[in-house]
Amino acid sequence: MGLIVGNWKMNTTVTSAIMLANAVKVQIEGQFGPEVVVCPPYVSLYSVSETLRGSRISVGAQNMHSETNNGAFTGEISAEMLAQICQYVIVGHSERRTYFSETDLFINLKLLAALSAGITPILCVGEKREDRDSGRAHDIVSSQLDANLNGMDLDSKIVVAYEPVWAIGTGQSASPEIAQDMMFHIREILADLLGNQSEAIPLLYGGSVNEDNIGVYVSQADIDGALVGGASLNAGAFCRLIANASRTER
Ligand code: PEP
Repeated sequence: MGLIVGNWKMNTTVTSAIMLANAVKVQIEGQFGPEVVVCPPYVSLYSVSETLRGSRISVGAQNMHSETNNGAFTGEISAEMLAQICQYVIVGHSERRTYFSETDLFINLKLLAALSAGITPILCVGEKREDRDSGRAHDIVSSQLDANLNGMDLDSKIVVAYEPVWAIGTGQSASPEIAQDMMFHIREILADLLGNQSEAIPLLYGGSVNEDNIGVYVSQADIDGALVGGASLNAGAFCRLIANASRTER
């Protein structure tokens, strides 16, 4: 069926987040298509989840802390807090790995905490430009998956997003061949780590996806949908992207 996730990053106020969520809801209401998730900033999660109640759109958080005990972690949000209002949470986004120095171990702990709170983690992996240029892209992604999925129950519900760092927010999306090649590699690693259960894991491509190029990604053999940043901030463009994803699903 496919999955399209909109990551709003540090955009929207509470008011504009409600308006954006409502506009997407109204435009796709009654349409058949991929599962849709929107990930607003923390402060809008509750309002957006109320706005979307009863619709076919799920809500995800953009981040969480790994700590499972409540307590003295000023400014942090736990999986237990998110579980009342979110079905998904993004972990390991490259912006968090880069700007906030998040390590593979920290991301692994977040993923495990999300799972034990009943939230589906959307794990982001992907290589930097210099890794691709030096032929290390596959190795980087393998080692991220190895480390980030450590200790996970084999039948856990997760989503994996391949997001080459050089393609995020740059307008330089990966070619469908590059994306499919890496997705095939990811499928092999997941099969090694998790066995048959891995076939049920949706694989998303992320990196400058828009309404014009979504079709070529979702028609690839191992791509089940997309993680969308910039193009998810305009309701019309996002809804056209969703419609184009369902038209061209393989
Ligand atoms: C992202 O935020 O994960 C992303 C892929 O952003 P963009 O679509 O803007 O490249």
